Amino acid sequence: MISIKDVKKIYSSRQGKVTAVDNVNLEITEGEIFGVIGYSGAGKSTLIRMLNGLEIPTVGSVIVANNEVSKIKGSSLRKARQEISMIFQHFNLLWSRTVRENIAFPLEIAGVPKAQRMKRVDELIRLVGLEGREDAYPSQLSGGQKQRVGIARALANNPKVLLCDEATSALDPQTTDSILELLVDINKRLGLTIVLITHEMHVIRKICHRVAVMEGGKVVELGPVLDVFKNP
Ligand code: ADP
Ligand code: ADP
Repeated sequence: MISIKDVKKIYSSRQGKVTAVDNVNLEITEGEIFGVIGYSGAGKSTLIRMLNGLEIPTVGSVIVANNEVSKIKGSSLRKARQEISMIFQHFNLLWSRTVRENIAFPLEIAGVPKAQRMKRVDELIRLVGLEGREDAYPSQLSGGQKQRVGIARALANNPKVLLCDEATSALDPQTTDSILELLVDINKRLGLTIVLITHEMHVIRKICHRVAVMEGGKVVELGPVLDVFKNP
């Protein structure tokens, strides 16, 4: 589903050059929940942003759901992005729109007709457990509910891949667990491939099948979670 080949990302600025991702190779299988863990500055965000074309690798190729996202631009990239959704630490909701309107937003952009949109939004609201909160505004929701809106919005166009950028880092432990359970449920029910980055070991332990440990832009360990985090 995802193939990252010999990828390097170098940022150039007046301060000089920073190699944020350094010769990374990864293959992620369809239906997998794959975790990337590392301290701040390890290169996790840069790596995940290259999966949906938000960053272009300096060297190497990135293929996601048969799209070479490291190469395509413009309308082909926008089309590819419908298959590669993302959720964020701070949810990135539209503050002046209701739950229903936030979830409908990507459907509007995709040009889905209104009646179909309403039906799809209702399905998504049930899927993430937000029944009864349809007309609330983000400021009236708890952190966990906001992330449920983020997840519903990300799933609106039936993506093949869901990218999670520190998606539970702003949540308390109990809410984190409920969001992780929702992600597992979605992975099982929809067969969705999930890539998540985090600095929290328990997130990886709780839901990931495999994990890559990043340090200084490199993948320093890779394997099934139970092997990588073996208790000595
Ligand atoms: P992480 O997500 O693991 O915290 P990042 O991918 O954000 O790591 O950052 C990796 C390295 O790249 C860091 O040294 C960071 O300062 C640098 N970096 C990230 N984004 C930029 C940018 N837009 N311009 C310059 N340097 C950047
Ligand atoms: P958290 O619970 O993680 O602090 P919030 O959901 O309160 O996050 O806010 C998420 C982000 O949205 C923050 O960066 C915040 O500054 C921004 N934000 C909060 N209120 C509004 C608003 N009324 N309009 C636009 N952005 C807002």
